[in-house]
Amino acid sequence: MSWPEAKEYFDGHDIVIVPVGSNEQHGPANPLGTDHLIAKRVAEETARRTDVLCLQVIPFGVSPHHKQFWGTVSISPKAFKEYIRETCLSLMYYGVRKIVVVNGHGGNLPALSDLARELRVQGVFMSVFQWWPAAGKLLPSLFAAEERRHAGAEETSVNLALHFELVNMSRAVDEAPRMHPTQAEGITLPLGTVDETSSGVFGKQSTASAEKGRKVFETVVDELVSHVEALKKASMNDLMEKPKV
Ligand SMILES: [Zn+2]
Repeated sequence: MSWPEAKEYFDGHDIVIVPVGSNEQHGPANPLGTDHLIAKRVAEETARRTDVLCLQVIPFGVSPHHKQFWGTVSISPKAFKEYIRETCLSLMYYGVRKIVVVNGHGGNLPALSDLARELRVQGVFMSVFQWWPAAGKLLPSLFAAEERRHAGAEETSVNLALHFELVNMSRAVDEAPRMHPTQAEGITLPLGTVDETSSGVFGKQSTASAEKGRKVFETVVDELVSHVEALKKASMNDLMEKPKV
């Protein structure tokens, strides 16, 4: 898109889609880029179906818990949040008031949730979409619980559906995560992935299939399309922070 094309879009639209992800280990079979690659494809397909502009994917996220596995690139929550904030404020200058973040990595969510609340005060309504909780709710029986965790069969299936050439299923691993000896109900521990698995895979991965991945992709894109259409119609008055009662 050139700047006159951007001007034409922003003159008539106050909404954009921004994909964000991470670059972190997903076991020996999957590419490091899994989270940003999937976010990009979900965002682009949704943008195509809704005539909303999709920005370039922001590839690096908050992944310190994966650093012992080679190639992981991690950004602090503070720097990540500010980078996304300044991206959003640049768009606000051109009249954007509605931003749909397609987040491919759960570790980014606390920073994104904080930011969304702060931006709302400034007059920008930011929603965050994550494909895997949507898939868990909408396709509850497609995968077992042990297939739905980090780098498991569900995520690997989506990789197979979207970028088959980047997955090496001959290196697929099934690994039951280890329970830390201090773990108990109600306890949160500062563990890294390496404390729980040797391969980086949580649970079952070898049952992944491109066919199941396509089902997940279609289902989550349909869901996100309905959100984007609703957001397009919503009045800014209804989206902004309410005054005190
Ligand atoms: Zn992932």
